[in-house]
Amino acid sequence: MSSSPRATQVTVPVSAQLFDRAAAIIPGGVNSPVRAFKSVGGTPRFIDSARGYMLVDADGNEYVDLVCSWGPMILGHAHPAVVDAVRRVAMSGLSFGAPTAAEIELAEAIAARVEPVQRVRLVNSGTEATMSAVRLARGCTGRSKIIKFSGCYHGHVDALLADAGSGVATLGLPTSPGVTGAQAADTLVLPYNDLDAVAAAFAEFPDQIACVITEAAAGNMGTVAPLPGFNAGLRKLTREHGALLIMDEVMTGFRVSPSGWFGLDGVAGDLYTFGKVMSGGLPAAAFGGRAEFMDRLAPLGPVYQAGTLSGNPVAVAAGLATLRAADDAVYSALDRNAERLGGLLREALTAAGVAHTVQFAGNMVSVFFADRPVTDYAAAKASDTWRFPAFFHALLERGVYPPPSAFETWFVSAALDEDAFDRIASALPAAAAAAAAATPEGPRA
Ligand SMILES: *Cc1c(COP(=O)(O)O)cnc(C)c1O
Repeated sequence: MSSSPRATQVTVPVSAQLFDRAAAIIPGGVNSPVRAFKSVGGTPRFIDSARGYMLVDADGNEYVDLVCSWGPMILGHAHPAVVDAVRRVAMSGLSFGAPTAAEIELAEAIAARVEPVQRVRLVNSGTEATMSAVRLARGCTGRSKIIKFSGCYHGHVDALLADAGSGVATLGLPTSPGVTGAQAADTLVLPYNDLDAVAAAFAEFPDQIACVITEAAAGNMGTVAPLPGFNAGLRKLTREHGALLIMDEVMTGFRVSPSGWFGLDGVAGDLYTFGKVMSGGLPAAAFGGRAEFMDRLAPLGPVYQAGTLSGNPVAVAAGLATLRAADDAVYSALDRNAERLGGLLREALTAAGVAHTVQFAGNMVSVFFADRPVTDYAAAKASDTWRFPAFFHALLERGVYPPPSAFETWFVSAALDEDAFDRIASALPAAAAAAAAATPEGPRA
């Protein structure tokens, strides 16, 4: 197979120079670990600009973006409605430390979409949302222990880092130094999709478990949807044992449907966490849920939670504009684009004879180099992840930007068009060949 001119012309001297400069002042050169390309090697692309489906790096190379800022950019980059809203609001002041009308609108928009959410509080990141939701669950139940699932990532909250996915998985860290025994001791880590393990934990620790926190559909160990009945089983067990169910929809919320994963499986959590899409790409996130629990927050109740920039008017404007622009046509496009991407991945890998399974959770997609479906973190880690770096770089060199880790979801936007899919389709055969040629020791000489 001859490589396209694009494949041989990609050079990144400016990114390489920026990465060196960054590494001298920012640990690892990045402000979030997975951006450093550690598990795939090579030079992280420093991004200059983006529009629609296209990223442009500091060397002027173009890429079809299949990361979408790790989920938020469902409309594509620099969507006019979102940019206009941000520009308009920014002209009237950036932050007041006092309430604004727009915060109510965003909270109402969230509650209107996700029926079990009766109250909403805005925060600045998904990490803050899950941290606050867990604190609230403990405060409401007077219990200490929490259950989380192996391979699920809920942000870098001390108590939730144990056996987490995303960057923790990428770097192969069991947990993190700096998290004390006391902070982790109350966290029970169980295999995802294993209801028997959850039932056994409730039996072993009666009246001690405050909550179960789960990704509504897991996307941080690659895409691993809950097996039929798993979320419903969590709902039943938590109710029977007086524990709260926290549905982490930071990734799935307002992406996989207008009402997130709740819109697909209808299993109601007690508390919810949101981020990513509802921020429109600016720093905003939220947690919410049933009034009886949320009304225990200060200033109504004793559970403290606060934020200088929470409900920031510019971030709220971006989030509101994104939710308003995300109409039925956008959600159909997201679903269609995910299906099409998954189909192209399958086609290319099948043609190259590479064992693989393309998995979906709504319009979230990822590929595992495994010959059977992956339903938990152990199986994700047991897949041929050593094929991924070669696959990744062959795509990147041909102008397609997938997530730089075998343990991450691929995110489509509604902005992908025929041209974008042409680029993806023409890059994939060489990438599949590179994956086929990879060996556990590295690229074949
Ligand atoms: C991204 C993510 C978080 C953390 O959000 P940040 O804004 O990065 O702190 C939490 N939970 C899930 C499911 C996520 O995907």
